[in-house]
Amino acid sequence: MRSKLVKIEKMEIVSQLAASISHEVRNPLTVVRGFLQLMKSQPMPKETQERYMHIALEEIDRAETIINNYLTFAKPTPKKEEVLIVGQELERVAHLLQPFARMNGVHLIEKCQPCMIIGNAEYFRQCFLNLVKNSIEATPIGGTVTVSCSCKGEEVIVAIADTGIGMTAEQISRFGEPYFSTKEKGTGLGAMVAVKLIETMNGTWKIDSKIQKGTTITITFPSATTRG
Ligand code: ADP
Ligand code: MG
Repeated sequence: MRSKLVKIEKMEIVSQLAASISHEVRNPLTVVRGFLQLMKSQPMPKETQERYMHIALEEIDRAETIINNYLTFAKPTPKKEEVLIVGQELERVAHLLQPFARMNGVHLIEKCQPCMIIGNAEYFRQCFLNLVKNSIEATPIGGTVTVSCSCKGEEVIVAIADTGIGMTAEQISRFGEPYFSTKEKGTGLGAMVAVKLIETMNGTWKIDSKIQKGTTITITFPSATTRG
């Protein structure tokens, strides 16, 4: 009986997720369609064409982000657990986001001690992509985002520090809430997924922030050497 109930609940979540994905992805698709139609229907200067293409590409990226986040969230089975070399994984995330940081005029620095945790590489990457991307987006031109990790006793501590706009107490308390976003084109899904993935990997998180000074998100994982 109980397991049946759990099953029904799970199915409800899945159908809610499916509904959310189609709803959220429809907006960027509509935008892309609109611009393509415009470009097809009338001649226009090259600059205008390029601007439209840029917007269309951005919207396609947005749709992809939404799908990735939902899929990570909806994955029904626990993923393979493996030993992760945290520095290597964070380096990969930093490498992936380097063009985005450059585009935003933000210095992205990564400095890590050799530490290991148990987790899933795909989850880890998705989680930190979301968090570091938020930090870059919160940071004005010329600012810095520093991703670091250190080992402290039986714990591995990852910190993402930015010199960005900071968060109010209310924003901090709503961090990770689905659809909470202060951005014009935000999805409010990135932090929710990140928080969920941190918990899946037995981690905890906290936020220190000062308005107009910056935000530091600190994530603590049990070290791989102390488990099993
Ligand atoms: P989105 O990025 O689409 O807005 P997220 O779930 O990724 O959604 O983030 C939710 C909100 O958390 C953001 O809109 C922003 O207000 C806040 N936030 C997250 N990270 C930071 C940060 N480093 N500095 C300031 N605000 C942040
Ligand atoms: Mg985000």
